[in-house]
Amino acid sequence: MNEGQMKPDAASPHNPEALPDVDRVIELSSKDDGHCTECRDCPIGFDGVINHYLKEHGYVLLNVRTVTEAGYNSETDHVAIALLGHPRK
Ligand SMILES: [Zn+2]
Repeated sequence: MNEGQMKPDAASPHNPEALPDVDRVIELSSKDDGHCTECRDCPIGFDGVINHYLKEHGYVLLNVRTVTEAGYNSETDHVAIALLGHPRK
């Protein structure tokens, strides 16, 4: 609780503790082409669909992580997973 450290913003994707309760959570994978389940709009790509959910549907970004999974030829694939939440009204 030291002052002078990170100043807490209002609810923002970078400040999860300030986020409101969410009534639903979705996971987006960088392996997917990216399409919106809410309006069937199809933003292209991982960052495109994330931005679409944030801007058009009011979601907040809760977490981004990477996972590894077995890919072709026993190589390891790195996959980014974004966790988005829809704030409770
Ligand atoms: Zn949409």
